[in-house]
Amino acid sequence: MSKVTRTVPLPQVLDRIKELLGPAGWSEQAEVIDALVRDERGLFVGSTPLIVKPASTEEVSAVLKLCHDNAIAVVAQGGNTGLCGGAVPHESGGQILLNLSRMNRVIEVDAIDFSMTVEAGVILQTIQEKAAEADLLFPLSLGAEGSCQIGGNLATNAGGINVIRYGNTRDLVLGLEVVLADGRVLNGLKRLRKDNTGYDLRHLMVGSEGTLGIITKAVLKLFPQPRDTQSAFCAVTGPDAALKLLAKARAVTGDAVSAFELISGFGMQIAMTHLADVQDPLAERHDWYVLIELSSSRADGQLRDSLETLLGEAFAAEWVRDAVFAESGAQRQNFWKIREGLPEAQKHAGGSIKHDVSVPVSKVAVFLDKAIAAVTAALPGIRPCPFGHLGDGNIHFNLSQPEGMDKAAYLGLWSDMNRIVHDIVIDLEGSISAEHGIGRLKTNELEHYSESVKIDALQAIKHAFDPKNLLNPGKVVTKPKPFGAK
Ligand code: FAD
Repeated sequence: MSKVTRTVPLPQVLDRIKELLGPAGWSEQAEVIDALVRDERGLFVGSTPLIVKPASTEEVSAVLKLCHDNAIAVVAQGGNTGLCGGAVPHESGGQILLNLSRMNRVIEVDAIDFSMTVEAGVILQTIQEKAAEADLLFPLSLGAEGSCQIGGNLATNAGGINVIRYGNTRDLVLGLEVVLADGRVLNGLKRLRKDNTGYDLRHLMVGSEGTLGIITKAVLKLFPQPRDTQSAFCAVTGPDAALKLLAKARAVTGDAVSAFELISGFGMQIAMTHLADVQDPLAERHDWYVLIELSSSRADGQLRDSLETLLGEAFAAEWVRDAVFAESGAQRQNFWKIREGLPEAQKHAGGSIKHDVSVPVSKVAVFLDKAIAAVTAALPGIRPCPFGHLGDGNIHFNLSQPEGMDKAAYLGLWSDMNRIVHDIVIDLEGSISAEHGIGRLKTNELEHYSESVKIDALQAIKHAFDPKNLLNPGKVVTKPKPFGAK
């Protein structure tokens, strides 16, 4: 790694940054800092001498150049809804927090290119609304959409509920503008559907969690607006039956499945106990549920027929025990409130040890069987609350503490439980981070489960873009170094 030296004392560099950005572009106020240096789950509380809020790419570039020349580390932050501690600075207090919330302009919507050009700090929900105003769809959708930013979504390659149909954020971007560690601007703000001119730098930046560059603008892909959406809440006989239902649903609806979410019986129980304004859609309680959603850009009524036929066959095959269709927007909203309220409901059930894992779709039922048995054997009374994007093989395998156990003692088992669950995931050829990224939370797990050649390649990429290790150091890849170096 290159030797890093600071020629000007830190306070003087900070003064130069403040001067450059003007009064609206920075804050040293304790309460502003306090609110932004804590991660969503309360696992990490950082510290920073200065929060900067640049208003343009030029300002991001000037700040990064100054920081690069003076060896100051910079942590990019979007909506700070990330679940791996990636967007908060280290507690040692020497890293600047660069918050993108002032870069919030929607620059252009193009209905012929099916594209939207935005600044990185635009809130995801605003993008969805702007697309809808143009009678188009931006399909990325997740529980934090009212506060996460598109730059954060790109930097984490966020997933969400519509991946089965439209892909991850990676699949929804045509071009990016990125400021590199030394302040230079990489302008890839193209709206091309085809561009094979060398290595795809855009896809290196997607999912890089602020460690390779700061995303300042993006061209996003838009889609035709669905004219018909049909949803059903089903009690299934088990995860295996749910997988058969999924395969059948894809086959008989012309691949119109846009969401296929799993909820456990325990999840339903805590949702009904702790969430406001939700109703159990079914008359009796069951062990497993799925929420199916179909959508089509045609409004010919065929979707409802397809869903009815599908569920008729599923009842006959004994995959489904009971089901209800959403007959109104309010009913559909109720289904989604249950599903998306599960993390909130879990907060009322004591400590929760989380896993964001994926396995091949066909192996989800095996994974659930093995993982539930293993964690229960390790800690009798533990209450697994698996839920999530079954259609993508992505389960949030969250574990609520045994009733009556001390919360801190339970959370002290986090690494042990991770090891048990992640060993099973890797054995099933899965991933220890399906959609939340690595951040700070999973750097050790990434190293533990990766072949050395993969770690070498990741470190070399980091070294190529950020040899001084100034962009979000300590996240994702902890040691940048040239490929093959010892
Ligand atoms: P932040 O949390 O601010 O940052 C995340 C990472 O990206 C950090 O490493 C940060 O340094 C980096 N970063 C942020 N902005 C930039 C930028 N402009 N340039 C470079 N790096 C940047 N995630 C899913 O994938 N699927 C879900 O279904 C989902 N559901 C969620 C539900 C809830 C209730 C919550 C709280 C979170 C959920 N998340 C989900 C996690 C989170 O919302 C996503 O990871 C989201 O993409 C983070 O966006 P953000 O703007 O909040 O980023």
